[in-house]
Amino acid sequence: MKILVTGGCGFIGSHFLRYMMKAYPDDFFICLDTLTYAGNKNNIADFLNRSRFTMVEGNIRDADFVDTLFATHKPDILVHFAAETHVDRSIVGPQVFLETNVIGTGVLLDACLRYGIEHFHHVSTDEVYGALPLQGGSPFTEQSPLKPTSPYAASKASSDLLVLSYYKTYGLPVTISRCSNNYGTHQYPEKLIPLMIQKALQGKPLPVYGDGLNVRDWIHVVDHCRAIDYILQKGKVGEVYNIGAREEISNIDLVKLMLNVLGKPHELITYVPDRLGHDLRYAIDSSKLESLGWKPEYTIEETLKELVEWYRKRLFK
Ligand code: NAD
Repeated sequence: MKILVTGGCGFIGSHFLRYMMKAYPDDFFICLDTLTYAGNKNNIADFLNRSRFTMVEGNIRDADFVDTLFATHKPDILVHFAAETHVDRSIVGPQVFLETNVIGTGVLLDACLRYGIEHFHHVSTDEVYGALPLQGGSPFTEQSPLKPTSPYAASKASSDLLVLSYYKTYGLPVTISRCSNNYGTHQYPEKLIPLMIQKALQGKPLPVYGDGLNVRDWIHVVDHCRAIDYILQKGKVGEVYNIGAREEISNIDLVKLMLNVLGKPHELITYVPDRLGHDLRYAIDSSKLESLGWKPEYTIEETLKELVEWYRKRLFK
């Protein structure tokens, strides 16, 4: 089996490749990544030179390049992580989010149709559902309406709809997963956890948006990767699967937890003007996926110490 992974040099894609290479020692893996600021070959340094692994640098928006890649490597499965992913950047400059997340996904779908791929898995986000109120409001199910608020979330929701249209219109075998916020090693230090760890270790103020009460649902990145593997093995074509670990925590409580682990004072916390359109709360119901046998193995409390240590070593070497 040949598995093409887009965005494999980013945070989750690199974990997914590592997980899959270990789980499927007879399979071949191709990583397609254009190495934006968020992509880094160091993230895959531990398997970059293995014979079962091929790194291809290129842009998913480049239809000719993607066509040549499919013609050359003939992948059986595509797992699509490549995206612009930072909400704040999408507010400042939404255009590239449309180009990569929507047009780029369309280029890949077309190539998959032409080359008769066995399975296209699209990695999406719970942010497509919009926000819940802080109190009450049931966690999002796969039936919840799409109500994205940020340009990032809107671009992901658009790509989800495009993927489903290729299933309905052309019968392309697709699945979609919508996952909550991930934590783990190898994340670019603009996202909440590595950013706060970096600032705290430097003794700098920790910028917390608004009152910090916004709630996010967190999941360990390896649990996310295992969930995608479950969907590839047991998921039904044309279906959407939510992925979450039911670990709701407010931003401020998470930052305090990190400061406690780092042994740094809470006085480092500095409240800054809220992000535009900041969603109050995300919570995700993943019982559909759990009915296939998947369940999360990690908790944030248990893994935070190890995580903080990893970033302490990497960010300051
Ligand atoms: P990331 O920003 O760390 O990595 C994105 C990767 O995609 C990078 O390696 C980048 O170089 C590559 N890329 C970007 N544009 C490209 C292009 N045009 N062509 C080829 N490669 C390109 O992102 P991440 O956090 O690992 O997220 C991966 C996927 O998971 C995204 O689709 C995201 O929407 C989704 N997701 C992320 C989270 C999260 O908490 N991080 C949660 C749910 C879903």
